[in-house]
Amino acid sequence: MHFSACPHQLRGTRTEVHVPVSAEPWMSDELHMRQAIAAALTNLGKTAPNPVVGCVIVKDGVVLARAATAPGGRPHAEEQALEGVDARGATAYVTLEPCGARSTGAASCSLRLVEAGVTRVVIACEDPSPFASGQGIERLQAAGVAITSGMLCDEAWKALGYQGWKEGVNPDRA
Ligand SMILES: [Zn+2]
Repeated sequence: MHFSACPHQLRGTRTEVHVPVSAEPWMSDELHMRQAIAAALTNLGKTAPNPVVGCVIVKDGVVLARAATAPGGRPHAEEQALEGVDARGATAYVTLEPCGARSTGAASCSLRLVEAGVTRVVIACEDPSPFASGQGIERLQAAGVAITSGMLCDEAWKALGYQGWKEGVNPDRA
């Protein structure tokens, strides 16, 4: 078993962990998540008060886009990665659970991923923020998107400083 639920999440329930339905090999998933972590590292320390997130969009084994949370925390990584690409049928690799709501009232990344036609989302760490906190994964699953959660979670958690961010979560901003 390659997958485990994120050990760092705040909520008590475990996200159901799905084995990928695609024929995409495990090593490919790991490779793409490492690319997402690497993308996030480019803006490490610049995105406060939001966490730094990396997003890679992959379709048929080809990387269509990669992005990190912008300096200052907006736009989010997923918003930038989805811009200008045909993501229908693609898989999105994200280092943190996509947001399920935005403090600004803007469309959440979960909604954007669904509207872009992404059919699978691979997540490293689940988001303790009240703006994601299950809502992101729930919205994606409700829309029929396959979820794999916990992919390289420990690695992403440490590399991207999510512990420090979790301890200072701002409940009024996403
Ligand atoms: Zn977002």
